[in-house]
Amino acid sequence: MPEEWLYFIEGQFLEIVFYLFAMGMGIRCLAFLVNIFNSRMFLYQKFTWKSTGKLLFLLGNFLLPFHKILLKQPLYTILRYIFHACLFIIPVWYSGHLNMLLDTRLGWYWEPIPDEYIETATLVFIGIGCLFIARRIVFSRIREQSSFMDITLIMITLLPFITGYWYVNGTLDHISLFEEYMWYLHVFSGEVMILMAVFLFIRTRLDAKRCVGCESCCISCPTGTLEAIETANKREFLYSHYQCICCGTCVSTCPETAAKLRHEISISLFFSFIGKKKINEVVINTCAGCGKTYAPDPQIEKINQIFLVKKIASPETLSYCGRCKKLFSNHMLLPRDG
Ligand code: SF4
Ligand code: SF4
Repeated sequence: MPEEWLYFIEGQFLEIVFYLFAMGMGIRCLAFLVNIFNSRMFLYQKFTWKSTGKLLFLLGNFLLPFHKILLKQPLYTILRYIFHACLFIIPVWYSGHLNMLLDTRLGWYWEPIPDEYIETATLVFIGIGCLFIARRIVFSRIREQSSFMDITLIMITLLPFITGYWYVNGTLDHISLFEEYMWYLHVFSGEVMILMAVFLFIRTRLDAKRCVGCESCCISCPTGTLEAIETANKREFLYSHYQCICCGTCVSTCPETAAKLRHEISISLFFSFIGKKKINEVVINTCAGCGKTYAPDPQIEKINQIFLVKKIASPETLSYCGRCKKLFSNHMLLPRDG
């Protein structure tokens, strides 16, 4: 590889990446603020100590390991928190990075964590990352819900740590190619990871196969990010990733485990600053009596299945709206020869 490229990777490109990161995060914060002030939901309608407290509570709920859903998988939860703590601590408090970035360029730095601790933390981090990948490949239930993106994301995150560990310890120095280029591989993979963070979103998805269209997720969403609108004979679910605070309320409310929070790297999402996108839709059934729409088709189908499993015939009133159901019942009560 030409030397100018190598100098570019460890010099100018690194600076460009840091500027892009700062700019990208600034733009994301701005887009979030614009979206929440445009929102109609109660948390953002007006500033009150109560609504601010609720917002902070929900954010804390997401950040701290007391989440109702996460507590269902305690081991995974603990590993997940260790992983994210290491992801932040290792690059920021490793003496090599501090000396290179802060001391040499800015003339100041904070006290680094001793290198032997950082080295152990790096191994723990890599180990947990590999476990996460294996978990997504080995367990069929998790594999079904995982995408190629999920595994790629973990690999991109691990790469700077693996190459950094190999570089510091000279693990692959017996291979001349690695001996020569490991440092550049480490720097470049770190740059890719930082750029990825700008385009990385945690967004809500509604699984079309599981969703019965009950709207519980929209009703419970504290920010109004998730919204249901009815058009002709459909219920459409709209969502804005820039309004979502990733609180997980929709996930814990969904009775069908159809709502999920997923990582996604997307340039188009980054540039979709305003407006909501349709993320799911369900057909609404028409009442057999008055012809008006009354309930989501998958929900009625689900109720029918329950009757089927219990070997009971579905009531005829299932295909009627609430008003017609009443009329239907009254009609049944009328004396036949009255
Ligand atoms: S969409 Fe879900 S995760 Fe996002 S703010 Fe609403 S309830 Fe929370
Ligand atoms: S995602 Fe879950 S809570 Fe939301 S409408 Fe579908 S089934 Fe109901």
